Amino acid sequence: MSPIGVFGGTFDPIHFGHLRTAFELLHALRLAEVRIVPAGNPPHRGAPLCDAGHRLAMVRAAIADQPGFVVDDREIRRQGPSYTVLTLRELRVESPRRPVCLLLGMDAFLGLPQWHEWRSVLDLAHVVVAHRPGWCAPATGALGELLAAHGTQRVEDLHEAAAGRIHVRPVTQLEISSTDLRDLIVAGRDPRYLLPDTVRALIHETGCYHPRATR
Ligand code: ATP
Repeated sequence: MSPIGVFGGTFDPIHFGHLRTAFELLHALRLAEVRIVPAGNPPHRGAPLCDAGHRLAMVRAAIADQPGFVVDDREIRRQGPSYTVLTLRELRVESPRRPVCLLLGMDAFLGLPQWHEWRSVLDLAHVVVAHRPGWCAPATGALGELLAAHGTQRVEDLHEAAAGRIHVRPVTQLEISSTDLRDLIVAGRDPRYLLPDTVRALIHETGCYHPRATR
């Protein structure tokens, strides 16, 4: 059984840094699919600028023509904080034996010890860490120890067990962030070539960031 990839985030808005990373991991790890899971109520940061409905619509628009990419809106439908561990538990119940790979950028991996029930994550899924510009893998501390104990370079290990390994993977480095995009859009500048045209069109039509966005 090929693993499914789970790629969570605020996606406020989704951009080519997210999409290219998910696309490269889909192929490099031979995943059955990548589920893109927008957070409804992200617990470790301020409230998103754009509401959940618009963020979901942007994700749907961004991946509409990409086989192997699936939108999973469970964290938006669920009440309460969007804890990843709850999503992984639900997926484990739905597919008890299928490998699950939680896909994270390095910045997100470095924040893992602040997550709700973070030590349960490796019982439920593998963790795949994509290099992101400006961030390095930890050599010491809780995450350094976790990497030493669970790290693997072998993609086969992600297929042979349902959970429990950590795989750090280089991907094409695109220095794009949603924070920078929001600043740019709110300032009335054009986000073209940083995110899909379909997403840019939605931002323009809905004015979900700013009434003057992208004009
Ligand atoms: P923000 O700037 O609002 O924090 P972001 O651009 O980091 O947003 P998120 O929605 O928070 O985007 O990130 C979702 C996931 O995508 C995280 O695991 C994050 O590490 C990863 N990610 C975001 N941008 C990139 C990028 N340019 N390259 C690789 N991974 C990325």
